Amino acid sequence: MYIIMNRAELEIIKEKALENHIPIIMDDTLEVISNELKQNKPHRILEIGAAVGYSAICFTEYLADGGIIETIERDADRIEEAKQNFIKAEVQDKVILHEGDAVEILPTLNEKFDMVFIDAAKGKYPFFLKEALRMLSDNGIIFADNILYKGYVMSDYNKHKQRTAVRNLREYIKETTENPNLETEILEVGDGLAISRLKK
Ligand code: SAH
Ligand code: MG
Repeated sequence: MYIIMNRAELEIIKEKALENHIPIIMDDTLEVISNELKQNKPHRILEIGAAVGYSAICFTEYLADGGIIETIERDADRIEEAKQNFIKAEVQDKVILHEGDAVEILPTLNEKFDMVFIDAAKGKYPFFLKEALRMLSDNGIIFADNILYKGYVMSDYNKHKQRTAVRNLREYIKETTENPNLETEILEVGDGLAISRLKK
């Protein structure tokens, strides 16, 4: 049988990330994304926010043959751990890790992506959306994690210290739902997941 990844290692990577309070993708969110990708295998995935590489490793399972994931992380310790994890999980040939701030790295990327997973600084979601749309292929899909941010985004309570994040997540929802070229759903799985597809 063709080995897609080292699953035993993936479990260890997941447990360690949870122990260290790394905000990895939640199981129900991963399930929704997996179901989507199984039907429409992407050749190229762009991930914004790798952390220790857990979600990227999970997504490799759904890549088309020869497909690749490009992922971005700015935290030096997480970068080191992600690199080791890609090797442990035996997916290092399928993942390219860009080291640095996505705000600087995204404008340097120019290839098309079939799937974009936005999972980094919440205050930058509108910028990440703009960059994702610029690089999205015609049948592309964009997922944005943590879009409901512990319920803050849909509540009218506006005074907590995460105000900027909440304002920008609301802006992301507004832009994706009002964009005539997009079809957007907001799901209450995990910490909230926005799914946007380009209309045919
Ligand atoms: N996708 C990962 C979890 C990512 S957590 C998983 O599910 O396994 C969010 C990560 O985004 C953090 O590690 C944080 O350091 C990184 N991040 C936040 N803002 C960023 C930015 N502007 N550029 C690059 N990385 C960023
Ligand atoms: Mg997340």
